[in-house]
Amino acid sequence: MSEFNMLINGEAVGADASFDVINPANEQVITQCPMATEAHLNQAVAAARAALPAWSAKSMDERRAVVLQIADRIEANMGELAQLLSSEQGKPIEGFAGLGAMFELGGCLAWIRYTATLDLPVEVIQDNDDARIEVHRKPVGVVGSITPWNYPLLITMWHVIPGLLAGCTVVAKPSEYTPLTVLKAAHLINDLLPPGVLSVVTGKGDIGAGMSAHEDIDKIVFTGSTSTGKRIMESASGNLKRLTLELGGNDAAIVLPDTNVAEAAGKIFATAMINNGQTCAALKRLYVHEDIYDEMCDALAGIAASVTTGPASESPDFGPIQNKMQFDKVCDLAEAAKADGATFMTGGAPLERDGYFFPVTIVRDIPEESRLVQEEPFGPILPVVKFTDVEDALARANAVSVGLGGSVWSSNIEQAQALAARLECGTAWVNNHAMIQPDAPFGGVKQSGLGVEFGRYGLVEYTNIQTMQIAKG
Ligand code: NDP
Repeated sequence: MSEFNMLINGEAVGADASFDVINPANEQVITQCPMATEAHLNQAVAAARAALPAWSAKSMDERRAVVLQIADRIEANMGELAQLLSSEQGKPIEGFAGLGAMFELGGCLAWIRYTATLDLPVEVIQDNDDARIEVHRKPVGVVGSITPWNYPLLITMWHVIPGLLAGCTVVAKPSEYTPLTVLKAAHLINDLLPPGVLSVVTGKGDIGAGMSAHEDIDKIVFTGSTSTGKRIMESASGNLKRLTLELGGNDAAIVLPDTNVAEAAGKIFATAMINNGQTCAALKRLYVHEDIYDEMCDALAGIAASVTTGPASESPDFGPIQNKMQFDKVCDLAEAAKADGATFMTGGAPLERDGYFFPVTIVRDIPEESRLVQEEPFGPILPVVKFTDVEDALARANAVSVGLGGSVWSSNIEQAQALAARLECGTAWVNNHAMIQPDAPFGGVKQSGLGVEFGRYGLVEYTNIQTMQIAKG
């Protein structure tokens, strides 16, 4: 029996079987977590279905008040949640540029409180002697949320809060790598919500698949890999579930020759290495014009050489990679780049200590075809690719099957914006990257996903339209 319980219909629920949760900084078991069965999932979905009529009948203001109380409760427990998050995810409490566990907790508060300001007003399309036509937004129903291990609590809040505000009930399934912070937070806020409005089930192997095929779940919101996103889409077809899929990308940045390298390098480094590179919207392929290529590589390598990687107890800039699967992937891509003849300016091999530690790695003179350029590493390793012709750089930036974000760097904003507009991605930045915020829609094009999150655009994804036509005369 685990010390951590699931939350089903407002009750703490254990399971006969459990699975280990590993601390990535020392590869030791932190604790066990309940292994949900299909019966647990069915109970959680039934509770969500039963709770739906009363929750959706509440006014937006009533639900808003609860959402704001959730923020207050998380804020009151920030320190404890950050410690737990750090132990299971690996990120330092503060970390490089203050982007560690406390940043994730702060992000939770910012997103919840901004989302709570939103409304779903009735739109009037026509109002004349013939008819009045109104567009109403109704909750989509029972939502299944499947979240990853890079920002376990923040991404859960991205899924759960707009769902609750819109009047949906939610069954959440955190990643099997990082279930603890989400379980802890769910129990902390449990008394604020009627039973069944939010349940959390934990497991691995088939719970996510069970959710995406479940006939009584109306929508799945998933953040994770493109391959799993595709499987969700297939199995969601049974009852034609609504889907929001945020599937990561392989974001390119194009640095034009008039860029001030000294100013840009720090930002480029921070947005590539945010959360140890384990960020869907991180800068992952850096295309730099030949005129400033050496200068940029040297500047990035200088920053990389000055940062520390280690366990949270050492207050480092960066922690371990979150899990063995991802660690092996990063090691493999580094080896492939070496075999392709790339030059490693820093890092390039795991640290010789327990834990999944891979130092911040800057790679130059790397061929475009190298797997490190073509595949998303999702770790602390950045390929820097030289270009001569801007059109060629743009073509290479767009020549991938994914399109989450992209950026252009230049001292000429007009020129940069014109080029950024031609990037095939859901968010294009000028002189920045990876900056997301609660009021700006965020989502991918091509195989980076379906739909958007955040702000009003994200909120309406938890609704169906009902058009109301009232005949007159
Ligand atoms: P996945 O993206 O494969 O997602 C795993 C989660 O999906 C688990 O909760 C699992 O639950 C669930 N799942 C698996 N199969 C299905 C299915 N058929 N239907 C519904 N849910 C399913 O995560 P990984 O951790 O394996 O990461 C793989 C890659 O994803 C990483 O290397 C990285 O590149 C990328 N990634 C992207 C992120 C992003 O922010 N966009 C975040 C994290 C990773 P269960 O086992 O119970 O079914």
